[in-house]
Amino acid sequence: MHSRSQAEEGVRSTAATTLDKDDLIVITGAGGFIAGALTRYFHEQGFKRLRAVDKKPLPAWYQRVPGVENLSMDLSDPEACTRAVAGAREVYNLAADMGGMGFIERFRIECLRSVLINTHMIEAAYRAGVERFFFSSSACAYNVELQKDPDVRALKESDAYPAMAERGYGWEKLMSEMFCEEYWSERGLKTYIARFHNVYGPYGTWDGGREKAPAALSRKVIEAQDSGDLEITIWGDGTQTRSFMYIDDCVLGVDMIMHCDDLIATPINLGSSDLISINDLVSLIEDIASVVLTRHYDLDAPRGVAGRNSDNTFILDVLGWEPDTPLRQGLAQTYAWIEQQYADRKAGRPTPAGTATASPLAH
Ligand code: NAD
Repeated sequence: MHSRSQAEEGVRSTAATTLDKDDLIVITGAGGFIAGALTRYFHEQGFKRLRAVDKKPLPAWYQRVPGVENLSMDLSDPEACTRAVAGAREVYNLAADMGGMGFIERFRIECLRSVLINTHMIEAAYRAGVERFFFSSSACAYNVELQKDPDVRALKESDAYPAMAERGYGWEKLMSEMFCEEYWSERGLKTYIARFHNVYGPYGTWDGGREKAPAALSRKVIEAQDSGDLEITIWGDGTQTRSFMYIDDCVLGVDMIMHCDDLIATPINLGSSDLISINDLVSLIEDIASVVLTRHYDLDAPRGVAGRNSDNTFILDVLGWEPDTPLRQGLAQTYAWIEQQYADRKAGRPTPAGTATASPLAH
């Protein structure tokens, strides 16, 4: 019999309706973009015991939220995972060695090695008796054969199989999703799996080689204005299409997915369903910056799949919600933050991006 979804019942459970404010929440990858925003979100919700973990040294974290226990540890080590999850009621595992296309096409070994983090984190969480475990998967888990046309059909959850994921990064995500599914079915650990589609916003990577298109293009527009050389180089021919989810929608979605018991061990899209070409994205950023640049296209640069969009039928059905921040609004916030970071760096003030490790080959 079909049980009524949370959306049908008109209720949406979240951490605030499920946990006590002094329950321990652990967030990994918290020196990075999304998990940093998630830590701040829980702090703003009044949670008093937050543990944030990342392998980067603390000065390189994008956000250090007041009152949070910040641990700098490498979670590919099983002992570090045991330490990270001790006493936790919920674990949000977002740590991964990742970046935009420029990174994941070049550093497949690093991407694959995130399986160490995910293997040890889920086992440690299970042993520690954690109640709920969240895993950040990716749209890169989807079959690439379905993404060869810019005028793409949006990807629905069943499109991951038969599997032909993005080489390296996508296969690792699929494998780690399977861990989540089996830890639930064999061992009863409640796991939750969101397949994020491109996320953008302030406090994320904007240079150094790991940045994704919205941040990279914003930086290029800022650089062009600063140098007076009003030109921009775009990777690929600009016809590639994507959808972009604002960070505030992402963290809210993570919270709702984690507390929806219709979604245990069930991968779900978390992304915007608003498709845009890279050329139109550049126009939007130019508009925000009040500038028009001469465009050049680098056809040899990494460009990823031709088109990718999120089919939100399932999330609308189960949560009655989908990410809906207008792209222009989110981009304006992002652009303003990157512009400030750029100015700070130029003035010699410390910025997190200035201390982050850009390339795995550097260490
Ligand atoms: P990010 O690179 O900003 O954050 C990831 C963090 O994990 C980094 O700070 C990194 O230092 C940390 N990390 C890497 N290896 C570690 C280790 N061994 N031990 C401890 N920490 C380690 O990336 P993000 O954009 O915030 O992504 C967060 C999660 O969401 C990742 O799992 C990523 O694959 C997933 N995701 C992101 C997007 C996106 O558009 N940003 C899209 C799909 C999926």
